[in-house]
Amino acid sequence: MPMPVERKRAGVLLDRDGVLVRLVWRAGRWVSPRRLEEFALLPGAAAALAQLRAAGLPVIVVTNQPDLARGLLAPQTLAEMNRKLAAQLGVEAIYVCPHDDADGCACRKPRPGLLLAAARDFALDLSRSFLVGDSWRDLAAGRAAGCMTVRVASPAQEAESAWADFSAAGIGAAAALILRTLRRQSARRSTARGTTERAARRSSCNPWVHRSIC
Ligand SMILES: [Mg+2]
Ligand SMILES: [Zn+2]
Repeated sequence: MPMPVERKRAGVLLDRDGVLVRLVWRAGRWVSPRRLEEFALLPGAAAALAQLRAAGLPVIVVTNQPDLARGLLAPQTLAEMNRKLAAQLGVEAIYVCPHDDADGCACRKPRPGLLLAAARDFALDLSRSFLVGDSWRDLAAGRAAGCMTVRVASPAQEAESAWADFSAAGIGAAAALILRTLRRQSARRSTARGTTERAARRSSCNPWVHRSIC
């Protein structure tokens, strides 16, 4: 049974390559690491995710890894990368699409399958959650899932013209922006709650108040 929306929570869904992990320059373009020696976190990624986790936000990776389908990335290499990512960043989960375009799967971004699976497993309210990515595929998937989207600049420059709610220079700036936005939204919600409670008090049927004032 679906959980009522108020029981669900905000979370942060992050693309991996170009957001948390360094891209690799190969054959004239920026691509994903295929070997463990190429795998390295971007500076600031660990600190940024620690801040998000400290704010009580589940932090989840959603990543396309079509090199698996292309036979260019060994499954055991990806498993080792995932172990490092989990250990160094303390992410709650890593959702991987192992397919390529020809597979027509529901999980390869820009489709929202990975995000929807994460929302189901972690009881996320996607409308209060953020998708952070550096490519148009990430941002389109985030939008399709109903998240707020944050574009992070990366050398691949695949998201330059893609629509996003927010833009950030890197993962550190993205985390700060997310925390600021959530603080602002919860302040606005508690103001709205206060207004409702005052209205309810005014209209409550207190006989003494009614007799003496109305
Ligand atoms: Mg990326
Ligand atoms: Zn897939």
